Order: sequence, then structure tokens, then C-alpha cells
Amino acid sequence: MTVTHAFDLQGELATLLAPDRVSTSPSERNLHARDQSAYPAAMPDIVVWPESTEEVSRVARFANEHRIPLTPWGAGTSIEGNPIPVRGGIVMDMRRMNRILAIHEKDFQVTVQPGVLYKDMNKVLGRLGLFFPPDPGANASIGGMLANNAAGTRTVRYGATRDNVLALEVVLADGQIIRTGSRSVKQSAGYDLTHLFVGSEGTLGIITEATLKLYPLPSHFSAATAAFPTVEAAADAVFEIIASGLEPTALELLDGTAIAIIQEETDLSLEPVPNLFMEFSGVSEAALAETLPLVEEICRDHGCLAYRAGVGRNERARLWEARHSTFEAHLRHFPGQSYVVTDASVPISHYPRLVAAAHRLMEELDLVGSIVSHAGDGNMHVVVFYPPDDEAARARVLDFNDRLVQEALSLQGTVTGEHGVGLGKQKFMEREHGAAALDLMRRLKHLLDPNHILNPGKVLGA
Ligand SMILES: Cc1cc2nc3c(=O)[nH]c(=O)nc-3n(C[C@H](O)[C@H](O)[C@H](O)COP(=O)(O)OP(=O)(O)OC[C@H]3O[C@@H](n4cnc5c(N)ncnc54)[C@H](O)[C@@H]3O)c2cc1C
Repeated sequence: MTVTHAFDLQGELATLLAPDRVSTSPSERNLHARDQSAYPAAMPDIVVWPESTEEVSRVARFANEHRIPLTPWGAGTSIEGNPIPVRGGIVMDMRRMNRILAIHEKDFQVTVQPGVLYKDMNKVLGRLGLFFPPDPGANASIGGMLANNAAGTRTVRYGATRDNVLALEVVLADGQIIRTGSRSVKQSAGYDLTHLFVGSEGTLGIITEATLKLYPLPSHFSAATAAFPTVEAAADAVFEIIASGLEPTALELLDGTAIAIIQEETDLSLEPVPNLFMEFSGVSEAALAETLPLVEEICRDHGCLAYRAGVGRNERARLWEARHSTFEAHLRHFPGQSYVVTDASVPISHYPRLVAAAHRLMEELDLVGSIVSHAGDGNMHVVVFYPPDDEAARARVLDFNDRLVQEALSLQGTVTGEHGVGLGKQKFMEREHGAAALDLMRRLKHLLDPNHILNPGKVLGA
């Protein structure tokens, strides 16, 4: 959507930033028109690249005065349409604000600008024996991870992004700059503004700085795989492993289709049946040596067909590399197909029921796709494909997503564990939160962004 202005938008923004950091070129606008989801693209009118908090503030004040939509952009790897500028206007690409500002090594903390990519950050931190655990497979920016409350394979042990942020600097819609939180791990002073902005998908403010919690890289760890005859059996084993207090650092479930597809690109010597990918860490080899047989015993009790533990460093790296490439491997396997990635999450005791429902519904609706799941924290994705011009298949896929969401809600879960509301989950917000809580969210949005310029059309819709 192109917004017509009574002034020269490019010229005005160029005076607020610098001419070479403002672009209306079709290629740049195109690059900022869609994320990694299959939602339709929407071109912004203009793209800007601020380099400082003051520049972000200037642009926000200007956009607010002139009621111009302003959508922050991290790395564009969302899969729920979160950064698509559906109302046009300005896309603010944060990637030039990509400095690590301070590593507080003794406190296990780092302060960064939002455009830092987490994999790059972890490379730097790794030299000090530290890391930031939330790990969405794609090389997302810290700003995008905070805004979506991203999670990943390590969340079962270390929590999601929300659990690992201590303080923020945020630019509000009117250009005001605020600071929230502190570097203290314990914080109890007043309303928790830090976590209000986490998961707000760029609709409440623009994050310009963040202080994050870090952890020491585990010194002793071991990856393991376990193959099962059915996804239901694998899901039961997941619940048992968590319920036994074994504390995996990763516990992922992939169904047989997913295993077959990733092995087209990486030979992991696995049978194309449901598999658990696991990792455990410990203070010593002795601690690990106690854990792994217990895990095997649980898996065997649930009909495990093959169990492999203690894989070497290289094989472990290949296992997680393959897991992190699963989504792309599926896109390459189903070229040109449209897709939906479901993202429901439930309490761990209900996880086997969610997996069983997904499996049953996929068969009932005759769907093509895979169950790929951050099982240890009760979060399940199903990647479902359909021909772009097949309306009937599309309707079945959307019906599947709706029914899975209903199932998750009936199991006291949530409609999105980590991808955020974006465009696709708005219609479920009232069902999850109820009318009164949703109304409070709307009032909060209106208080912080009365002209509704920040990423309009997201989270709460119109
Ligand atoms: C292959 C693949 C695997 C993935 N796996 C996972 C996974 O395991 N777990 C998971 O959680 N996600 C996963 N994702 C989704 C995605 O990587 C995450 O949602 C990630 O947090 C998006 O970050 P980004 O930097 O790309 O942000 P973008 O997509 O650019 O933006 C995300 C949202 O944040 C807002 N935003 C960006 N920067 C700021 C800022 N500075 N201030 C305020 N708002 C801002 C945007 O407006 C938008 O609403 C995956 C994606 C892909 C492609």
C-alpha cells in the first residue's frame, strides 16, 4: 500500500538520518515486503537504516506527527507475517545498530544493540566460554527475538528470550526514549515494563538496546537419538523424561517424514521413523554417565527401536545443524508449494495428547507435511504443504491449524509458543485471553501508540 503525502517523504527522512540511509528503490522495498512466511508481500513506501537511538527517536517523532505507519525490521526471518508492513509507510531496518556494547563477563551478561544477529553474538561470546541460549534456527536479530519472544531447542533448559532479558532501552511511538529494568538479576521495583515490550512484535515501541543473561558453555555434554515406532510413543517418552527430572538441554521430536527429508541432505544414519534428538549436559562425565542410561531405560519402556548416545563432537554438530536446517530442507523438498507452520504449545503433561491430535488430524484431512517439535517444553510445529492454486487443499490446511489451536486451548495451552501472533493468530486472541484481557491489551496499545503507527495491523489487528 502506498501512502500519499503532501511533502517529500524521502527528502524529510534524509534530513533526519542521511541520504544514503533512506531508500525508495523497488529492490529495497521488495526486500522488506515479506518475511519467511507464506503470507502475501506488502511493500513499504520507504526503508530507513538508523544508526543510533537518537535517529530512531527522530524518525518515530516524525512518523507520529504525520501519522505514517512505522514497522521495525530485524532480519526478516519471522514465520507469522510479523514484520510485513501491511499498511505501507516506513520500514525501519535495525541492522546497522549491530554493536555489542558491553560484555559483563563476571555477571554473565551482555548489552547489545538490537541489530546484532544472535549467531554472530554467540561466536564472540563463545571465545569467553559464554553463550546466549535461545536459538531460533534462523540467524535472527536480538531485536526481532525480543519482539517475537523467540525460543528454540535450548528453551527446555534455559527458557525463551523473555526469560533471559534484564533491561531494555525503548523508543516510544512519540519518539520518547525510556529505559526499563536493570542489571540486577532480581528486580521488584514496580510494573515490569521490560517484559511488556518482549513479545509485543514492534507494536508498542522500538527496542534500541538490550541487556541479556548469559550462561557458561557446558563443559560436558552428550547428544543422543532414540527411534520410535509411532509419534505417540515418542511423545510419551518425552513426558516421562521431563517428569523424571532429567533436565535435557534439548529435547526435540521429529516424525518419520521429517527424518526422511533432512536425510536427503545430511546422512544421520537414522531410520525414517519418529525420532527424539536429545542433548544432556553435566558438571562431569560421571554425571552424564548416570543420566544417559536412565534416558535409555525410559525410551526402551516406550518401545524405542534404536537408541544412540554419546555421539562424538562432529556427529553432535551435524545432528543439530540438520535439526536447525529442517525448515529449509522442507522448503527445498516441496519447491513452489505454499505452507503453514503451526505453533501450538501446551503443558508438558498434555503434550502427548497434542501430538496424537496432530497425527490423527493430518491423516483425517489427508495433509502433506511433518511434525517437528520442541518437545521438551510442550511446543509443537507441524509444517504443512499444499499446492498454491489448490483452494480445497488450502482450506483443509487452515482447518487443521484452527483445530490444532482449539486442541491446544482445550489442553490449557497457547495458540503460539514462539512465532508470535503476527497476522495468522489474531483471530484466536480473544479465545485465548478472553474479551476483558484483550480489551486491556487494546487500551495499553492505545496508551503507548495513540495514533497506531507502530507495526499497524499486527497482534491486535485493526
Ligand atoms: C528456518 C527458520 C527457523 C525458525 N525457527 C524458530 C524457532 O525455533 N524458534 C522461534 O522462536 N522462531 C523461529 N523462527 C522464526 C524467527 O526466526 C523468529 O521469530 C525471530 O525472532 C525473528 O527475528 P528477526 O530478527 O528475523 O525479526 P523480524 O522477522 O525482522 O521481525 C520480527 C518482529 O519483531 C519486530 N522487530 C524487529 N526488530 C525490532 C526492534 N528493534 N524493536 C521492536 N520490534 C522489532 C518486527 O516488527 C516484527 O514484528 C524460525 C524462522 C526460520 C526462517
